[in-house]
Amino acid sequence: MKNNSLCEIAKIMERADSLLFLTHVIIDGDAAGSAAALCRVMEGMGKTAHVYAGEELPNNIKFLEYESFINNEEDLLEEYDLTVAVDCSDTGRFENRAACYDKGKVSINIDHHMTNAGYADYNYVDGDAAAAGEIVFRLIKTAGWDIDAKTAEALYVAIVTDTGQFQYSSTTSETHRIAAELIDKGIDLNTISVNVYQSVRKLKYILQGEILRTVEFRENDRFAIAFADQDMFKRTGSEIQDSDGIVELLRDIDTVEVSAFAKETAPGVMKLGFRSKYDINVGELSAKFGGGGHAKAAGCTVNGGIEDVKKAIYPEISKLFENRKSRS
Ligand code: 5GP
Ligand code: MN
Repeated sequence: MKNNSLCEIAKIMERADSLLFLTHVIIDGDAAGSAAALCRVMEGMGKTAHVYAGEELPNNIKFLEYESFINNEEDLLEEYDLTVAVDCSDTGRFENRAACYDKGKVSINIDHHMTNAGYADYNYVDGDAAAAGEIVFRLIKTAGWDIDAKTAEALYVAIVTDTGQFQYSSTTSETHRIAAELIDKGIDLNTISVNVYQSVRKLKYILQGEILRTVEFRENDRFAIAFADQDMFKRTGSEIQDSDGIVELLRDIDTVEVSAFAKETAPGVMKLGFRSKYDINVGELSAKFGGGGHAKAAGCTVNGGIEDVKKAIYPEISKLFENRKSRS
């Protein structure tokens, strides 16, 4: 796939009078922060700009939402000069808003997933970027657009969340330099930390206690997987987003190299998330099941229940560890 230059992307955005930003399903800090930042910058230039997530934002990033986030499809314009998808590796990531994507006369795809094949009229994909927010920052700098404190806050949230608080190997010195420049725009780091990380609902830990009882260890404790079915969410009165963090919790176990968490997001639909510590590529693993993502963080969907997930995943996991033999 050939990238357009950030300069080209900036020019096309500058020429548009109306822009619609689309984020991926099960929206996260990177998608919301990147879209919010670009939307603000465009509005600052006198354009009409909207973000349409098609779902409610999780509580910990709800503060990124502002009046240009449209909640009802009916409130969108008939047509936009441009639609811009951010942090979306393929069109399946906004399949539920495909008609909205088509509202744009021209489309742009800004992303950092290596599996992104470039589905828009203009594409900028950098699989090495730690977050889509990092690319958005570079785009804004290339274009010479202004970054106010609110825009900086949105970009900082995008980067801090997608780098696992600057822990993941995608984090570079440039990531830190970008973060430093954003901090210098006058953002309040403590408020961001309290909102994003220190506002956990009690219920979340009650649910997570239940989920942790389902953990299975395989491959000499190098692989760990946990499960949550719809009944578990119902019984505890929790929501699906309350299970966020489980896959990282399992990854953090000393012996574990690959972790997985499978949650039933709709009856008979299991959404899987994978994390890898070292060289096992969970992006490739997920792609085998129609999903995708990064080498160390990826996901896919399996139809069926918990037993179907085990049947599908376990042989592939065994193959991965078998082929690799031992880590050098
Ligand atoms: P998470 O486990 O946090 O939901 O996702 C981890 C990473 O995998 C994210 O970068 C996300 O974009 C990607 N990912 C998760 N689920 C899917 C999926 O079903 N399809 C694709 N293409 N990527 C996914
Ligand atoms: Mn991202």
